[in-house]
Formats: sequence, structure tokens, C-alpha cells
Amino acid sequence: MSHALNILKEVFGYPAFRGQQANVIEHLVDGKDCLVLMPTGGGKSLCYQIPALMRKGVAIVVSPLISLMQNQVAALNEAGVDAAVLNSALPVEEAQIVEQKLLAGYYDLLYVAPERLLTKRFLDLIAQIPLALFAIDEAHCVSQWGHDFRPEYRQLNVLHTRFPEVPRIALTATADAVTREEIIERLVLHDAEIFLSSFDRPNINYQIVDKINSKQQLLSFIQHEHLHDAGIVYCLSRKKTEDIAAWLNTHGITALPYHAGMSPHQRALNQEKFLREESIVMVATVAFGMGIDKPDVRFVAHLDMPKSIEGYYQETGRAGRDGQKASAWMVYGLNDVIQQRRMIEESEAQTQFKQIATKKLEAMLALCETNSCRRAYLLDYFGEPVAFTACGNCDICLNPPDSWDATIAVQKALSCVYRTGQQFGAGHLIDILRGNQTIRVVDWEHDRISTFGIGKDLPVKGWRAIFRQLIALGLLTTDSDSYGALCLTEASRAVLKGQKKIFLRQQPEHKKYLHKKQLANDCPILDQGAQQLLDQLRNWRTETARKHGVPAYVIFHDTTLMELVRMNPQTKDELLRVTGVGAHKLDKYGDHLIEILRIA
Ligand code: ADP
Ligand code: ZN
Repeated sequence: MSHALNILKEVFGYPAFRGQQANVIEHLVDGKDCLVLMPTGGGKSLCYQIPALMRKGVAIVVSPLISLMQNQVAALNEAGVDAAVLNSALPVEEAQIVEQKLLAGYYDLLYVAPERLLTKRFLDLIAQIPLALFAIDEAHCVSQWGHDFRPEYRQLNVLHTRFPEVPRIALTATADAVTREEIIERLVLHDAEIFLSSFDRPNINYQIVDKINSKQQLLSFIQHEHLHDAGIVYCLSRKKTEDIAAWLNTHGITALPYHAGMSPHQRALNQEKFLREESIVMVATVAFGMGIDKPDVRFVAHLDMPKSIEGYYQETGRAGRDGQKASAWMVYGLNDVIQQRRMIEESEAQTQFKQIATKKLEAMLALCETNSCRRAYLLDYFGEPVAFTACGNCDICLNPPDSWDATIAVQKALSCVYRTGQQFGAGHLIDILRGNQTIRVVDWEHDRISTFGIGKDLPVKGWRAIFRQLIALGLLTTDSDSYGALCLTEASRAVLKGQKKIFLRQQPEHKKYLHKKQLANDCPILDQGAQQLLDQLRNWRTETARKHGVPAYVIFHDTTLMELVRMNPQTKDELLRVTGVGAHKLDKYGDHLIEILRIA
């Protein structure tokens, strides 16, 4: 294994393996199959890239996304590794050259799209040359139930049938047991060793806040905690992505929209820009994300609640792949709850599917309403044993909410629902409770019922929070026939009868923002000279990346730039000790870097 470690240092410039990497590499180098489950940012790629360099022949990497493949290959080439990509985006002449070089044994790694790999022509082609291994990235794409389903992935078992002696590694960041079984089944990995890592992402700070004015809240969040950072903002509708992007732009934050309704060309342009430039905010529907391996996404914000914890975790997981501090921030309110419930009720799906969807939504709501550590809840949801009760890096741990005895207020709300015949939405009910004589209230003669005006002591915001929590707690439910109407449930009876006390969460009055410096891990407050040096290095990186036509992070990660500033290496030997500087990059950039560092 010392050989693998040498490659890690020499080629990739990293001092040590992370988590299970070394074990996986050893297993694969030995020629055995494996399934690797590691969270996003865990370092899956090295698990097959290093064996590819150690074993005879070329490693074939199957990946579903063109942009992902291209960036991976660019990063490998930067590190001096002979790798190429074959996909439909490549012009025929170039593809022919790649094929010739492949046959001549030129490459250590070849990335291919599944549909290309499965052609008879390609399979015959690789049958003529020595193969180091097959890597099947994003292996959860075999799963029909997942949202990334790719039918071609189901035929990848042909690799096993046709090349039984070539070791295979399947990799995914999707944790649940059902998907795992499906991967094993479909890819015939019954004898494969499973390497399961913790799914915790300790560098991500989780925050879920009450939705009041989501636009303004988003803006404040970015301004306070992530000014000049790259981030992703998720919205449910296409129109909203455009609105929010425009709004951020008018407030001095460079933002781009991304959704399935845009032309493929425009989408590709926006994505390229997001990947290549620094500090761009992408405002997107969930159509955006898979295969975005940009390591320095500093925040993921949700303006609408995802349907499930799986979705939430996958989307937020795109933040902080480089291991530096990052935020997952979400605003959530009464309408999210009502809207999501309605979407399930109105869908054409089978009852069984609706039941599963409801369960998943309830778990998501419970995460939003929890009074205890969000991280502990998330890990527990994924079936991981949790050794702590407070992580110290989520909003609940940092700023514990008070809970208050809301029994009387809840009784007022429930009885108002009952007295109005369980036919009205929260807005109307709150008008009655607050004693507002709106036209609608008067028309229905709801100003004459006993609950009229009994809730003047609480502001509208307070009542909305109560109704939201009642739905989340299952004390109220939405009616499938009329839009937004709230109905009592079996569980509300005991509360109405005064047999059960209800404690609800009190949102802190003022949001405490995390100071940007608090968020910046290994990034102590820089003095002026250091900041200047960092800026110079960044400019050099931007310039170099532009010349090479690759994203900036492919040249060096932020982590590397920070270390350069901190360690201030003056010789090539010293430079080699910096994380992310391998032999090849030293050759290419060493002189330039030393020049910049000496002058500083
Ligand atoms: P994944 O595919 O699991 O999401 P990647 O393979 O893209 O993760 O790795 C995430 C980041 O961590 C990459 O930028 C990679 O260069 C870096 N990385 C991986 N392994 C190590 C390591 N042993 N030491 C330092 N950085 C690493
Ligand atoms: Zn916590």
C-alpha cells in the first residue's frame, strides 16, 4: 500500500487517505469487486483513480453526466494523468483519435457514457486491450425508484458477463438500504465487499428558519454569511428561479437561473459559468445538481421544502465538498406544508405510493419542527448509530429554541376549525381568531361564533406558526377536496378535551447570523498582507484557469491557496508539502508560485 500512498502524494498532492479510501484501493488493486457508499465529498473518485494507475491496462469509468466526466478528466490531466472522455458531445474525428490512443494503450483512465459503453462496437473494442477495472459511478442510477433513474444502467451487468475477470467498483452517495440492494441485484455484485462510510457531513451547518419574507431572508442570509461565495438556491417552480435570480442581481449578487424549461444551450452556458467563475449563485430547480462536483459551493439554500429527507440531504450535500465550512439553509412555512400535502393527494399515483410519499413528507416535516439536533435526526433517519445528542453545528444546537405550553392556544385553534365545519384554510381561521371582520368572515357570519376574536393576544405570524406545527404534528390535516381546508384528526380529540398538553416551538425573535469568519474553517482572520497575497494567488489562478479552459478549482482548491498563504513556501521542496501540490503541478506552476510568494 505504500505505492498507493506515494501516488496519492506524488500525483494528487495529498498527505493521507481519508476514511475508507485505503481499504477500498487495496481491495480493488487485488482484483476484487466492491460497492462503495460514501457521502458526497467523501472522496470516491480516488478510490478508482489510484487503482487505475496501479493496475495494468486502462480503467473504464462509467458516468451518467457529460459535464462531470469532462471536469474529472480535466482535473486528471492537470495532475499529469493520461485520461480521456468518450461521449456524444465529442466530434467524430476526435472520438476516433481517442479510440486509436485507447487501442495503443495510451490511457490510464477512460470515461464513457453508459449508452456508448453498451454498444457492441465499443465492447468489442475494449475486448482487445488489457483492462485495469470498471468503475460504475453514481451507481444508484440503476434504481427505478430513485430520481436519477437511467435505464441503460440496468444493462451494465453485461460487464460482468463479458469480462468476468476484470474487477468492478460501484460507487454512490445514496445511502438507503433499498437502493443498495437494487444495485447489488442489478449489477450482479453479490460477492462484492461493501464499504460503508459515515454519512455525516460535519463541515455543513444546518439551519431551518421560519418563512416570513423568503426573498428578503435569503438576501440577508447571503449578505451576512456568504457574501462573494458560490452557492445554489433551490426553488420549486421555474418562474421562481428566474424571479429570485433577478432579485439577487438587483441587490448586487451575481445570480443565474437554471431550470428544465430553458434551452439546453442556455442551461449549459449558465452551468459552465457557475463552474468556472467564482462567487456565482445558481438559482435552480432540482433539475440542477447531480454531477456538479464543484468543490467550493459554500451554501445550499432551499426556498421551498423538499419532498423527502433523501432529497434534502442529497441537495444540501452539494455544499462543502472540499471539507471547508459550508451552510445548508432553508426557509419553511405553513404553505410548504399545505402545498406538499396537496401535491401528494392530487397525484394520480397508486395508494401505496401515496402512503410512502406521505411517510417521507412527515419525516421531512419532523426535521423542520424538531427541538433537538438536526444532524442527529438526519443520521438517525439514515440508520446510522449516532454517538452524540448535540452536534454543535446546527441552528438548534447553536441557538436552542424555547418551547412553550401552547395548550390553550391550540385548543382555541382546533375549536375554531370545528365550529366552522372544517371547511376553511388557515388564513380565514386566523382572521376569525384575531377578530378581523373581513368580508368573508362577515358573509359566513363567523363574527358571531364563540371563537371570534379569542386569539387577539397572538400576532398573525404566531398563529401561522401554530397552524403549521399542528399540521406537522398531525393534529390537523388538509382536506383533499377543497383547497387548503383544515380538518381535525383522531389525535386532536384528546387535546380538545383537555386530556393532553401541547408544547410548541418558539422561534427566536431575532435571527443570529453566523459571522462569516465563524464559518470559515481553516481560514483564520487574515491580516492585510495575507489577504493581499491570497488575492494575488486567486487572480493568478483565475488567469491560469482561463488559459487552460478549465474551472479554477481544477488548477488548485481554495484549501491549497490558503495553505500557500499560511506556510509561505519559498522553495520547491517546501511547495511539495502543501496539500494539493503534486509533482506534475509543481513542475508546471512551481516557478510561478514561488515568484508570487517571494515578492509578497
Ligand atoms: P465524491 O465523489 O465522493 O463526492 P470527490 O472524489 O469529488 O468526492 O472528492 C471530494 C474532494 O475531496 C475532491 O476535491 C478531492 O480532491 C478531495 N479529496 C479526496 N480524497 C482526498 C484526500 N485523501 N485528501 C485530501 N483531499 C481529498
Ligand atoms: Zn446539532
